[in-house]
Amino acid sequence: MSDLLVVGSVALDSVKTPFGEAEEVLGGSATYFSYAASFFSPVQLVAVVGEDFPQAHLDLLKRRQVDLTGLQVAKGRTFRWAGEYGYDLNEAKTLDTQLNVFADFRPDLPDSYRQPSFLFLANIDPDLQWEILHQVERPRLVAMDTMNFWINGKRQAVERILSEADALIINDGEARQLTQEPNLVKAAEAVLAFGLQLVVIKRGEYGAVLFAHGNFFFAPAFPLAAVLDPTGAGDSFAGGFMGALARDGGMDEAGLRRAVVYGSVMASFAVEDFSLRRLTRLRPEEIEERFRAFQEMVTFR
Ligand code: AMP
Repeated sequence: MSDLLVVGSVALDSVKTPFGEAEEVLGGSATYFSYAASFFSPVQLVAVVGEDFPQAHLDLLKRRQVDLTGLQVAKGRTFRWAGEYGYDLNEAKTLDTQLNVFADFRPDLPDSYRQPSFLFLANIDPDLQWEILHQVERPRLVAMDTMNFWINGKRQAVERILSEADALIINDGEARQLTQEPNLVKAAEAVLAFGLQLVVIKRGEYGAVLFAHGNFFFAPAFPLAAVLDPTGAGDSFAGGFMGALARDGGMDEAGLRRAVVYGSVMASFAVEDFSLRRLTRLRPEEIEERFRAFQEMVTFR
């Protein structure tokens, strides 16, 4: 099995949706990613939390065998994000971002982390993404995510890391913002022009589109009767996508398509409850069941 390394945020989130709210719950891009990916492949995590971070959250990740050697506990407060969604759950409105211990985080990767086959640079400061990329031997695939907070605040740094990555997994609004191109096909082409091999554009309840090697593939979102909180959908998608690639090894067109569907499967579970609650109740056989349900859903003669 191939090693999968992720850097990103480990956070305490406060989230409000039309269906409820949750205060100071477990969140963060690297948290959702590593939890989702752990169903497919061993995962190593790089991040920092403050002294206020509950031990119970770390235990959750440990129980899924996520390697926390690269998780530092620093003096100060954990990263915090607060967001809100309206009835259109596709767009998060950020109310507050507190970098806290991430503001001074200077990672020094443990030796055991320096040769990953797959690297995911989850949503976090692009300068930090760049530092991690330069502390490892070149992996087979370097994929990344980013968001409006960083595109607005550090566009040059975002472009610098984009020019060194292989894949971008991003939501549609951010793809448009990054490329200043309203048409998604043109936005994908503009992203690929940074030198990337593939781009996955996530479209919330409308599914995800893969653009790679001149082809494209579309996976719908799973039709769920109850979506409670879309937070973490993108990172859980990326965890399923990268985890499936790391587990199955093949990055040909068929392997990439399967990975997009596994990504969609993991995202569909993440949104069924607040924080990581649904993922922590998830049984591996439910993943395969939903994967088959996806296949059924799009087969026709
Ligand atoms: P998503 O999968 O796109 O819904 O990502 C949600 C997660 O991203 C939340 O759990 C937040 O803690 C985290 N997050 C929000 N803003 C930032 C940011 N500026 N940098 C890093 N992580 C963030």
